[in-house]
Amino acid sequence: MTLDIVATGSGGNCYLLAAGRDTLMLDCGVSYKRIQNALGYDASRVTGCLVTHEHNDHTRALGDLARAGIDCYMTRGTADAKGVSGHRIHPVTAGRAFTAGRFTAYPFQTEHDAAEPVGFLLSYEPTGERLLYATDTFFLRYAFKGVHYFMVECNYCKGIASTRYLNGELAKPLYDRLLASHFSLDHLKDFFRACDLTAARQIILVHLSDGNSDERRMVREIQSVTGVATAAAAAGQRHELTLTPF
Ligand SMILES: [Zn+2]
Ligand SMILES: [Zn+2]
Repeated sequence: MTLDIVATGSGGNCYLLAAGRDTLMLDCGVSYKRIQNALGYDASRVTGCLVTHEHNDHTRALGDLARAGIDCYMTRGTADAKGVSGHRIHPVTAGRAFTAGRFTAYPFQTEHDAAEPVGFLLSYEPTGERLLYATDTFFLRYAFKGVHYFMVECNYCKGIASTRYLNGELAKPLYDRLLASHFSLDHLKDFFRACDLTAARQIILVHLSDGNSDERRMVREIQSVTGVATAAAAAGQRHELTLTPF
């Protein structure tokens, strides 16, 4: 499988996961033009778009995608909060698997200041490869096993954010929101400690905060806690996901 990072971070999130003839779009928080560009102006190759929650940095192109005939999957809460409906909008429910092309997707609840946010555990049926996509969540109540690729938010380092708050560089409402709605490096480490990582091959950190993160430290610490190859996502990257990376 290949994973293209179209955009990541609070300015916009959009990822393209391609396997065989299927391409899944994970969130669409950039302009439609940017998506068309990333797709080589061939939207027909998109099997579907999976949306985690209604915030603009995850949904900016949603209306355009539906109008272009792309099936979009999200919870009822997300669709209602975004005010979208129509036959391309497919409501999904946490805990209930659905199929998109040859992918099976299993939505699970995340913890965020949104109506009904979810993450997705994806399984590509021809190879059995599994990828976990979890973003915009201040913790995860579930532990996972049998996941090969993790694409997870690592938003901020607690020490950096609290120092900036104390220095007056980060306003209290923003600081409070950060703690209550996004994944810190420490919480992410706890999450990985709870998971069975026997099958894990690659970890890709997404949605890093502009001012409150330390990319090199995050990569180093997650890699040392998990023993799994770790990278931080940046726009324009392509990651080859493979069960035998060596
Ligand atoms: Zn976000
Ligand atoms: Zn959000």
